[in-house]
Amino acid sequence: MKKGMVFGKLTVRYLNDAKRDTWACKCECGHYVNTTGRTLLSGNRTACTTCDPERVSGKFGIAVTTGNYCFGPRKEENKLGAAKAFRAARAACLRPKHVNWPICGGRGIEFRFKSFEEFFEELGERPKGKILDRIDSNGHFEKGNVRWVPPWAAIHNRRIYGDHKYRGVYQQGKNHWIVAFTRNYKTYRFDGYRSEEEAAHAWDKIAPKYFGEYTNLNFPPTRPQRRALAR
Ligand SMILES: [Zn+2]
Repeated sequence: MKKGMVFGKLTVRYLNDAKRDTWACKCECGHYVNTTGRTLLSGNRTACTTCDPERVSGKFGIAVTTGNYCFGPRKEENKLGAAKAFRAARAACLRPKHVNWPICGGRGIEFRFKSFEEFFEELGERPKGKILDRIDSNGHFEKGNVRWVPPWAAIHNRRIYGDHKYRGVYQQGKNHWIVAFTRNYKTYRFDGYRSEEEAAHAWDKIAPKYFGEYTNLNFPPTRPQRRALAR
């Protein structure tokens, strides 16, 4: 390894740590990247994470998304909670080896923000204690479908599994349906509905008391109804 050597978009600038064989390299885009000589020589790394977001690397083949890798111009931006969420979500959609790939990219969820700037404009900085959530859990990461929510609300917003048609509704027998859910580690159960639809409507009445603004309704108001409510 030598200063000035070029690997793809990376130019080796200086030795960072001789013992660990780490070198600071400058990407064509201006970002700096710290990486080992062995990685460079093997061809595993040829650009910074911005220029090559699909690159898979790191321990156990899990994508390096912490951003600790890059320094220089990205440093300030990297401190933002929103930047961490952005990278984690993007990686889960793009990289088949990412731990969350099966629930994101693996089931067709796309990451449609073109840049961190676009993402940040939509959401702003991540409020403390909140995480990234998709409003429609089967929708993509895109404008209008993302928000910051407390973790419990994201769990509540998970997609409906199996052959369940409605949220919070479970069959107990023929013509016997219940509404059930957990909140704050407590299970709630409302019994005595004659049909799936009846229970689904009951959920829409009960759930807002427990989930507030994060309630996912089984029958969300249509656009004209929403407009009428806002008036
Ligand atoms: Zn780059």
